[in-house]
Amino acid sequence: MSAVVPATGGAGGARSVPAGKIECDACPVLCQITEGRSGACDRYANVAGALTRVDPVLLMRRASDPDSDGPVVRFAGQEPDWDGDLVGQSVFVTGVGAGTTYPDYKPAPFIVSSRQQGVDMVTVVTEGIFSYCSYRIKVDTDRYLGPECATVRHRGEAVGHVTTIEYGSQFLSLGGVHHLTGGSKKEGRVTCDLMMALGNKEAVDLDIEGGAHLRVQAGRAPIVDGVEERRMRVGCGSATIGIFARQWLGHVDEVVVVDDHITGVLTEHQAGKCLDMAPSGIRIRGRKSTPGRYFQVANPGTGWGGTDVTDPLTIVEGFSPKVARPGLRLLMVSTTGDHHAWFVLDDALRPVPAPMPEAVARVVERIGENCEPSLATVMFVAGAGGSLRAGVTENPVLLTRSIKDLLTRVTVGGAPAYVWPGGGITVMVDVTRMPERSFGWVPTPAIVAPIEFTMRLDHYRQLGGHVERIVTVEQALAQARARWLAWDSANPWPADPPPLDPAPTGPKSRGPAREP
Ligand code: SF4
Repeated sequence: MSAVVPATGGAGGARSVPAGKIECDACPVLCQITEGRSGACDRYANVAGALTRVDPVLLMRRASDPDSDGPVVRFAGQEPDWDGDLVGQSVFVTGVGAGTTYPDYKPAPFIVSSRQQGVDMVTVVTEGIFSYCSYRIKVDTDRYLGPECATVRHRGEAVGHVTTIEYGSQFLSLGGVHHLTGGSKKEGRVTCDLMMALGNKEAVDLDIEGGAHLRVQAGRAPIVDGVEERRMRVGCGSATIGIFARQWLGHVDEVVVVDDHITGVLTEHQAGKCLDMAPSGIRIRGRKSTPGRYFQVANPGTGWGGTDVTDPLTIVEGFSPKVARPGLRLLMVSTTGDHHAWFVLDDALRPVPAPMPEAVARVVERIGENCEPSLATVMFVAGAGGSLRAGVTENPVLLTRSIKDLLTRVTVGGAPAYVWPGGGITVMVDVTRMPERSFGWVPTPAIVAPIEFTMRLDHYRQLGGHVERIVTVEQALAQARARWLAWDSANPWPADPPPLDPAPTGPKSRGPAREP
């Protein structure tokens, strides 16, 4: 068990609580919990009559301050040899396991002082309950996953949709308030389950209407229709021509790089022209965009270059007898190099399969070598610009402005968060940079995720922060059982002091205009 918080005995006395139970007021559900049991979300329990956060609060420790003589040490795991002495340590209290205060005018569960690089700092720590949150999923694949705007389903329920294709990746938008609250109760529950699993880096199965079955897991290769994706393409067909044209020179008479979006044809392409390659007379199906670049040569699919092509010659209409000649050498290849074929024209100008020369095969191999491993990237997007801010300061807009002015740093479980420009505090974070099992849920339904706001102590006073609730790390540790986790040194140390003033050359504030 962890933080013990006083049970209120029922929403300010508005509801009666049966004997032997206590009422949890950490979210609007207001569970009445029997002794020895936990509430609906399993985050809070009744332990001997006290409302108790079940999980320990997660702390990160960095041995030695970077300004001191000693090295900065990344400590490992539970660190059984460490005696708990905090002298000379940099400690960061994360929101994982910190608990929630509700309604939001109550100060956040932990408002912790620390000294970092000789500066007095404050970190406001909470587990936010996010009704407005979702995921942007980047699936590195050439394969056709489904039409843009198609509904994505999980366990039969609509949980999101297909968005745009970016360079070598298909994006999905999953979760969000529409699916959490705007559909049936089951849709909301399934969406919530899916979102918690994605954030906790578990594999999830998705079905795209009119498209593929997909399994995605943060930081792992996506699995499309049961096949694990290996390579993220080197570029579109045109880019592949542009990259490798010189390496093909002298070994081929024509190259076609098959791609669902832009199929490249070497001798027509500017790259071939610059290398003085002779036209081959090849005629390609589809819509010509610019020289050597063709759109819509086939339908989308899971074949060559994200098309439905299994026989590459189906996109070749023929060869002009005025230009082509018997013996002309043709390479057809996909944008990952996974698919490739070599042909030589016979006397009737028909492409005939032939063994690929060694020099050409080497360039095909190099296409594959230049492909990066395919991954699924899971970015959590959440709006913290609402009532959650009242747990930080009595005047929430000052916090919003401070974040936009880079005077307050936002982290999510200690991981760096990108704050979107414009109004509010909309953060985006890569879940692989967050601690394990950072995400929870409540049955409203909504997602529970850690969030921390770190700033200089002086600045916190200026914001109208709840300074009377500031505690030291030692005092916080006395309130709650802690779990210590290795600081991931791939992340910046989250408690480092933000600059005193926004750097004049740095990102400009896009927040609401300041009062003079
Ligand atoms: S769902 Fe969880 S946080 Fe909400 S009242 Fe019940 S036990 Fe408390």
